[in-house]
Amino acid sequence: EGSTTERPPLHVMHVSVEMAPIAKVGGLGDVITALARAVADQGNLVEIILPHYQFFGASPMLQHMEYETNFDWGGCGITVSRCIVENIQVFFIQPSNGMFAKDAVYGWNDDGQRFDFFCNAALEFLLQTGRQPDILHCHDWSTAEVAGAFWGNYHQYGLWKPNVVFTIHNMNYGQAKIGMASAASQVTTTVSPSYAGEVSGHPAVSGATAYGKFHGVRNGIDPEIWDPDTDQFLPMNYNADTHEAGKRRAREEIQGRLGLTWGADQPLVGVVSRLTAQKGLDLIKHSIGHSLKRGAQFVLLGSAPDPRVQGDFNALAGSMGGPNAAFCFAFDEPLSHLVYAAADFILVPSMFEPCGLTQMISMRYGAVPVVRATGGLRDTVFDLDNDKERAAWEVDGSTDYKATGDQTNGFSFDMTDTQGLEYALDRALDSYYNDKKWFRSLQERIMRQDWSWNRPALDYIELYYAAIGK
Ligand code: ADP
Repeated sequence: EGSTTERPPLHVMHVSVEMAPIAKVGGLGDVITALARAVADQGNLVEIILPHYQFFGASPMLQHMEYETNFDWGGCGITVSRCIVENIQVFFIQPSNGMFAKDAVYGWNDDGQRFDFFCNAALEFLLQTGRQPDILHCHDWSTAEVAGAFWGNYHQYGLWKPNVVFTIHNMNYGQAKIGMASAASQVTTTVSPSYAGEVSGHPAVSGATAYGKFHGVRNGIDPEIWDPDTDQFLPMNYNADTHEAGKRRAREEIQGRLGLTWGADQPLVGVVSRLTAQKGLDLIKHSIGHSLKRGAQFVLLGSAPDPRVQGDFNALAGSMGGPNAAFCFAFDEPLSHLVYAAADFILVPSMFEPCGLTQMISMRYGAVPVVRATGGLRDTVFDLDNDKERAAWEVDGSTDYKATGDQTNGFSFDMTDTQGLEYALDRALDSYYNDKKWFRSLQERIMRQDWSWNRPALDYIELYYAAIGK
């Protein structure tokens, strides 16, 4: 086994239906972009194949789109164009039958068939243009089809070189497809070690687990995209040395925009989340009243795909919204940056969480995470009172936390009931009220921790080489 420098650079081709910021629904979109960039930074060629959605419209990021090729497939003309997005070459698949003439990524009855068609067209594009990447990297149920179709219809018919890596970003959707892809792939990964452990017994991945080809690699965040020191959506940029002034300006800005009173001595608790059952809806609701009772302010930025859930939250906003609680029901990327910057705490009380990005983003912006210790939340948030040794190991690779210093970075709880939540939230708020100076130093510490892709990208590169047998 050679070191990375002795091995040839890799050509990795992602096939995905999301990519931030042009086609972002949730964490998957962020991960595709950031992982691609991090692996490319290590000297590899990384490209992405994406559907050409109608909602791109005249996106300024795509104004240099160029024609690449066209061919017929499945009784339909396919046009492929290319564009550099966030420094990565992206190929866009556009079928002439209008299959992706949609205003969103998901949400139609034929999503499954549309994405299967996209996956096959992506493979056909590689075959037609003689491209032979080392790795085909597909993601979740939506591009699981790549794994099966590649080995069934393409590998022995000219697309000889690639091996397949499949990443499960969320086990809860499309389990039959996930099972198929994890059986057909050389390596299957999921997005944190704890989540890998939690789902390893699931029938969809038990085969991959038994063959030792199922791995948990935690996601990272892109440190350039999420950087309060350069963030264009903030009224004032800041870093670990200047966070007090920067966060104060962000707080003033959000106060003005969302109609909060100036709460100089009140901690601000924020939630930035899709409002789905996974995210712990009852606990999010409970935390609002509880935060107000404890004298804090609260901001919720959330989007609910289910109208009944939206109805519940509208009612809550009606009864609790006011000078100390603001509700914004939208998917609003710029506002999300402002919430991370303004908040003292970001709450993530998920029932399950494959990795979760919001807690890592919040740390980078100096907001202390308060989380339920599940999946990737457990692997990235270390409780101030209970996790000193685990934190030293995970952050510094040290078994002696007294030598490396305290690397704990948040507050966590295990139970799914409101008592669990209050146990963590009360300690968090107390820590703020008890000693502001200490709290500011905690914010500085978490801003300096490295939740980028630096380390996980190296793990993926190892797995890519393992997939091709090198
Ligand atoms: P998931 O993929 O399950 O939604 P993650 O924590 O992995 O959860 O990723 C969520 C991403 O989506 C983060 O970048 C977060 O900032 C963003 N996000 C979630 N809800 C909203 C919203 N309402 N407005 C803007 N961004 C949001």
